[in-house]
Amino acid sequence: MTDVAIGVDVGGTKALALIVARDGRVLGEVRAQTPHDHSDGAGAATAKVLTELIKELCDRQGVRSGDVPVGIGLPGMMRRDGRLAFAPNLQTASGADLGALLGQSLTSSIVFCENDANCAALAEHEWGAGRGIDDFVMVTLGTGIGGGVVADGKLVRGRSGFAGEIGHMVVVARGAACHCGGHGCWERYASGGGLHRLTREAAIAGRLPTLVTECGNAASVRAEDVTAAAARGLDEAVMLMKEVGWWLALGLANLAAILDCGHFVIGGGLSSASELVLPSAREYLVDLVEGYSARPAITVTSSMFGPRSGAMGAALVAFERHS
Ligand SMILES: [Zn+2]
Repeated sequence: MTDVAIGVDVGGTKALALIVARDGRVLGEVRAQTPHDHSDGAGAATAKVLTELIKELCDRQGVRSGDVPVGIGLPGMMRRDGRLAFAPNLQTASGADLGALLGQSLTSSIVFCENDANCAALAEHEWGAGRGIDDFVMVTLGTGIGGGVVADGKLVRGRSGFAGEIGHMVVVARGAACHCGGHGCWERYASGGGLHRLTREAAIAGRLPTLVTECGNAASVRAEDVTAAAARGLDEAVMLMKEVGWWLALGLANLAAILDCGHFVIGGGLSSASELVLPSAREYLVDLVEGYSARPAITVTSSMFGPRSGAMGAALVAFERHS
């Protein structure tokens, strides 16, 4: 029985590593940019950065890296054997067995990999906004959209371990191109990456005149400029965040129709702007969900751990699989 575990959440942009106590307390934190270098083979550059992060955390905590169980949350389709089968937002690691690569570099046999949103769902179910709730969907809004489906108190894994790839539900026939190779996927409309795309389109279409003036030109307006302006009440930015709220609600309505889940927990990097998106998403859900008034209330809440829930859940995976 170990007292601490390390959880790492590898996103399309950043990697966050936490050292976590068994009761969920976070004891230390380090982060790095996710590398997108393919020259040394699939996953090699990612493994190198993660090894450095994990060793740094262990040094700070005064423990040997080979002795601490490590969980890795990865953004893509994770096979049940821990190999990353397909990762649109981390293509340089697609096909890699990061658990084996890290096992070698850390001289450890206790490295476990899991889908990042599944990790987030497990953390929220154990310690956070999904505690005591048997049917909910964790929706992580980052570079893309990840999903972790909890039904009857258990994580739904599917035949191969690929269940919950909700970001690639098609919400617009022949819509915006997606990194997965498809078109019109939900994550091209309602994620951090989706907000970035909608911002660019709105700026070029003349729907963000104040921000275009402030930033110099349409190409310079970033998603962060929109969230900051919406927070200070600029109408054109508030309208764009409401549009993101509508896209979010559209996907949630589809999930409610399929799963009859009464609760959605919204996490990931964009969840820091949740107060700008969730109120409108809740309003739009009333019209978008089939037979809304005939159902028990559907709740949409922010995750308790925000951008940390994936890494915390990865640590939980490490605790559970190591014991
Ligand atoms: Zn897609």
